[in-house]
Amino acid sequence: MNPFEARATSGIKGLHPYQPGKPIDELQREYGVSDVVKLASNENPLGPSPAVLAALQNKFAELARYPDGNGFELKQALAARHGVDMAQITLGTGSSDPLEFVVRVFVQPGDEVMFSEYAFAMYPIITQAASATAVITPANDWGHDLDAMRAAVTERTRVIFIANPNNPTGTWLDSEALQTFIADIPEQVMVVVDEAYFEFASDPALGAVGYPDATQWLNLFPNLMVTRTFSKAYGLAGLRVGYSLSHPDVANLLNRIRPPFNVNSLALAAACASLGDTDHIRRGVALNAEQMHAVTTAVKEMGLDFIPSVGNFVCIDVGEEAAAIYDALLYEGVIVRPVANYGMPRHLRVTLGLPEENTHFLTALKKVLA
Ligand SMILES: *Cc1c(COP(=O)(O)O)cnc(C)c1O
Repeated sequence: MNPFEARATSGIKGLHPYQPGKPIDELQREYGVSDVVKLASNENPLGPSPAVLAALQNKFAELARYPDGNGFELKQALAARHGVDMAQITLGTGSSDPLEFVVRVFVQPGDEVMFSEYAFAMYPIITQAASATAVITPANDWGHDLDAMRAAVTERTRVIFIANPNNPTGTWLDSEALQTFIADIPEQVMVVVDEAYFEFASDPALGAVGYPDATQWLNLFPNLMVTRTFSKAYGLAGLRVGYSLSHPDVANLLNRIRPPFNVNSLALAAACASLGDTDHIRRGVALNAEQMHAVTTAVKEMGLDFIPSVGNFVCIDVGEEAAAIYDALLYEGVIVRPVANYGMPRHLRVTLGLPEENTHFLTALKKVLA
């Protein structure tokens, strides 16, 4: 161990950094393939609303200025949209920011942070970085087992993370189950409902009957925090902007550690502009539902199993050779996401792209499996 590593906190020493999906450039460089589709990071294949590009143009002249550190305009728009007070909002460089802030605010070394088996990979990283203890409850048919989570709460539990729907599994919890769960959790435990894929899951065409909007419960549960992002349905992953909604006293604490200019001026302008273009979101969500049907139907016809998902991605069981299949797909110019690091060595997670991108993937998968 080098002397710097020896001095790092125990949490940092045990940290395994988040593995992002392989960038398109890297694949082109290393594998020499030109026609590449990236279906690895749950990005919006339609890109952002055209209104975003116009809003960005208008901001270029002001790049020498610091952004509005309070994000007034964006917070005002979000407050109106969610029917909350501006004081309940914490803006982030992606929703990753508030997810991390809540742990930094409430969790001391040795405290417990709870999440499910197969839950989003950021949660163990944030927990480990705080030198806290991760309490990982067994999944139930790939989804969160709320009874197991309730039973695992101890006096040391500070934060519970629930992704609804979850990434990478795409599994979801209905309104009654989730609300009953939160009502059952002691008030000194923060319950974080991560709604990164809310727009997709709430589309009736995906069939998640009773899928809740947890922001509606903020007045019922002062210990509830809900996160949303502009990275997925809004197509702004590259600009990094997200937020949490919580009790104002919680937001006040989160905002104390928020770096003052964590959302840059282009991201603020883009987020505001994209909120106004509901038609664009509707188009993306409709495309997603249609492509979910197309891809899962094709996968079924190939005799493969998949985990039913209400996100913009699906985990396909390709068998024991998943790592080799992932690699072979790269040579076909298709980047998907291996999920062995989630304890899912048989699955590959595929983001739903444009129809032609999904066809490229399905053709490549057939070829590789043959
Ligand atoms: C993509 C994702 C996020 C959002 O990340 P950003 O920092 O907002 O880009 C949060 N939670 C889950 C479960 C995700 O899949």
